[in-house]
Amino acid sequence: MGAGATGLGVAWDLMLRGVAVIVVDQGDLAHGTSGRFHGLLHSGARYVLTDAVAAGQCQAENLCLRRIAGPYIEDTGGLFAAPPEVPDRLIDQWKQGCRAVNIPVAESVVVKGLNSRWNRVFSVNDGVINGYPLLQALARGIEEGGGRVLTHTRLVGAAEANGKIRKVILESAEGTQELAVDAVVNAAGPWAGEVAALWGDPLPLTLSRGVMVLFSHRQQPQVINRLDMPGDGDILVPHDHISIWGTTDRETALPEAPPPDYQEVIELMERGQEMFPDMGQWRVLRAFTGVRPLYRAPGSGSASTRDISRDFVVVEHPLSGAFSVIGGKWTTFRLMAQQVADRVAGYLHYSTPCQTQSHPLPPRLESFDSSGLAEPFLCECERVSTRQLQQYSGGSLSDLRTRTWFGMGPCQGTFCGHRVAAWQSLRVGVEQSDQELLNFRSERERGMLSALWGDNAVEWLLQRNIRFQGLGEPTK
Ligand SMILES: Cc1cc2nc3c(=O)[nH]c(=O)nc-3n(C[C@H](O)[C@H](O)[C@H](O)COP(=O)(O)OP(=O)(O)OC[C@H]3O[C@@H](n4cnc5c(N)ncnc54)[C@H](O)[C@@H]3O)c2cc1C
Repeated sequence: MGAGATGLGVAWDLMLRGVAVIVVDQGDLAHGTSGRFHGLLHSGARYVLTDAVAAGQCQAENLCLRRIAGPYIEDTGGLFAAPPEVPDRLIDQWKQGCRAVNIPVAESVVVKGLNSRWNRVFSVNDGVINGYPLLQALARGIEEGGGRVLTHTRLVGAAEANGKIRKVILESAEGTQELAVDAVVNAAGPWAGEVAALWGDPLPLTLSRGVMVLFSHRQQPQVINRLDMPGDGDILVPHDHISIWGTTDRETALPEAPPPDYQEVIELMERGQEMFPDMGQWRVLRAFTGVRPLYRAPGSGSASTRDISRDFVVVEHPLSGAFSVIGGKWTTFRLMAQQVADRVAGYLHYSTPCQTQSHPLPPRLESFDSSGLAEPFLCECERVSTRQLQQYSGGSLSDLRTRTWFGMGPCQGTFCGHRVAAWQSLRVGVEQSDQELLNFRSERERGMLSALWGDNAVEWLLQRNIRFQGLGEPTK
């Protein structure tokens, strides 16, 4: 269950061991937290002061992902910069912690634009994960290996016989279906508690939301981290031509990512200006939120969300054949998948060992070079042509957005939203494509509305006027 990094990772691992797999997700690939993260391939240096195990796992998996998933990793390197109030004692402790888990650290030069008082800077081997293409590659690899990936299909029930899980009940636009199974892995991220409750064993999950701000430019070539105890607003990650700044940690009630809270975004920006004094002038595209599932281990009492470990746990439920995996990081998804798959393969009596440490991921799909083609780009900001859209049959406008990246650039879909909706209407009819355009607009607006200040607010008004007065879009 779950087509995020963990669920697809588990299915990929089991498939390589010869197990027949089906991945099910209520949304498209990366519908959950895997599509709403910072994008950092952790070196582990962020965790050495608080969680040496997680730090060591991140460093080992960082090296492993560079080996097996090279086309999906950008080797940016990372820097840790210490604010002046951080004592030398803590910096030494941090360096020792890095050494203990083999994170290469070197004193580095001061970064342009960084607060000039933050003059102790160290380099580490952080990187950047291109999450969506990586998950698309896993899904493609699973299908090419004989597995299936069912998107927009929700698990709503399970049936057992003699204490073993035997069936799952799935709902999709086509109706309800039952699927015979020998084992089920609940990799439902923040929904994992709800899913486990379907077989009567709810999990002690605490959910925590984190908000991130997306800037329209790549502000720095490397990842920049605050060297201190982990806290709010301490990582700036470059992605292609943009940057993501985050994040926060607030307990939240529901697994669906809520709209970013305006006050939380403002606090995050204030914190950012301690690090980069001119951050308030950087052009913002939007803010977004992701939700972490945290496993509150029995006996951990009322620890705050920041104090709950970012490690992961694998749970074997009293109902035989039902497994859950909770927590962890994107960076450690392969390791999490390996540990779950070991348990499932053992349960199913498959003896083939894990292959994923050395088996490369399927290659990246070539992006189309439309320069020599007669057809124009539908999305000029992200250079998406009709040919790219045509690769994805059956997706809604929102699915096409995450699969091709249309609408993600500076105009946030002002122009290309209409063009792609017109193209989509030829496939699904005008009524449905109009509805999909409304959904697309409300998703884009929710991220822009929480970052409205200064020139961003002026630009947002301009975009609305273009849409409503220039392009004749209905105002509701
Ligand atoms: C704000 C934030 C920033 C982060 N930044 C980083 C980072 O920079 N680097 C890093 O390494 N990690 C980061 N993480 C952690 C990382 O994003 C997560 O560990 C990872 O994405 C979890 O993936 P997952 O597959 O376990 O869960 P998810 O991606 O949430 O996948 C669960 C899937 O299950 C599906 N599902 C749920 N219920 C059902 C159902 N009933 N039927 C069918 N499908 C269902 C959902 O639709 C969803 O797609 C961050 C997390 C947060 C919250």
